[in-house]
Amino acid sequence: MHACVIHAAQDLRVEEFTPSAPAPGEAAVSVAFGGICGSDLHYYRHGRVGDFTVREPMVLGHEIVGHVAALGPGAAGPAAGTPVAVHPATPCDHCAECDAGRRNVCAATRYLGSAARTPHVQGGFAQYVTVPAAQLRALPPDLDLRRAVLAEPLSVALHAVRRAGAVRGRRVLVTGAGPIGCLVTAVLRHEGAAEVVVSDLMEAPLRIARACGATATVRVGADDDAQGRPFDVAVEASGAPAGLRTCVERTRRGGTVVLLGLLPPGEVPLLGNITVTRELELRGAFRFDTEFDDAIRLLADGLPVDAVVTHTFPLSEARAAFDLAHDRTIASKVLLDLTRHTHPEATTTSTP
Ligand SMILES: [Zn+2]
Ligand SMILES: [Zn+2]
Repeated sequence: MHACVIHAAQDLRVEEFTPSAPAPGEAAVSVAFGGICGSDLHYYRHGRVGDFTVREPMVLGHEIVGHVAALGPGAAGPAAGTPVAVHPATPCDHCAECDAGRRNVCAATRYLGSAARTPHVQGGFAQYVTVPAAQLRALPPDLDLRRAVLAEPLSVALHAVRRAGAVRGRRVLVTGAGPIGCLVTAVLRHEGAAEVVVSDLMEAPLRIARACGATATVRVGADDDAQGRPFDVAVEASGAPAGLRTCVERTRRGGTVVLLGLLPPGEVPLLGNITVTRELELRGAFRFDTEFDDAIRLLADGLPVDAVVTHTFPLSEARAAFDLAHDRTIASKVLLDLTRHTHPEATTTSTP
């Protein structure tokens, strides 16, 4: 069995490991696909994401789907062979946040492939993983694994749109057309937003945003976006301070700005006086909880998000997959095919 392990910045290895049997309450999953997330890319490039730093070797990956391989003693979950998506989080269930229904911000949560805690929680880019059986979700029959792998990032998008409040009939700005910005766009349209304008530095991701339902796109630096009415809601999905600036500048008095992208570590500039005088609501959005089940349903119902997945690589070519995923002129969501480790000659598939 093999797994994709980060040792330090730029040091990503596909390594052999010996799988262990699921403990009581756990399930083992034969992983089929894993989606490479912006956070995985940050761990690869910088050895950290936001304020979380890699301090020991860690299997990356938290967007995974596969088949149940075995259930541990006393574990309740889908039977062996069932196709499943894996919810990446297990909150503690007894802190103040968990009690208040804010399980996604539980400080003691265990999240697959995250260096937020030490020892780190090992991730899912492995051919075989054991997780608490409660994290498994059986897939509906009409949802295939390749599409289901978007359940995790789509949950992030659903949660961010929930944080924005009612969006029906609203005019919404999304800064950043990466996979998350595009999924936010699809959710906003699904929730009835009248206009969704997406901005990015590059044209290729904006094309994907339009395929996901953006009513207009703005190429930063090329299109003149100075005109136009202010937005009711802005969702910052680029993780760049410039994106946050645009959101604050372009949101109407009394409007809401959702900060979704993880910004660079430490302090970032904020147009404080605009925030004050317009009485903007600045709201963070982090991860998700029960949105995972809603995301699976939306994917099964045909939410138009297929354009987000651009490439699939076998596990053995994980480094190439990570390198390509950095190139935003070509790639959006890049998948690892964990079933294809032993066939390094297999060709890379690409969908337009
Ligand atoms: Zn992710
Ligand atoms: Zn908790």
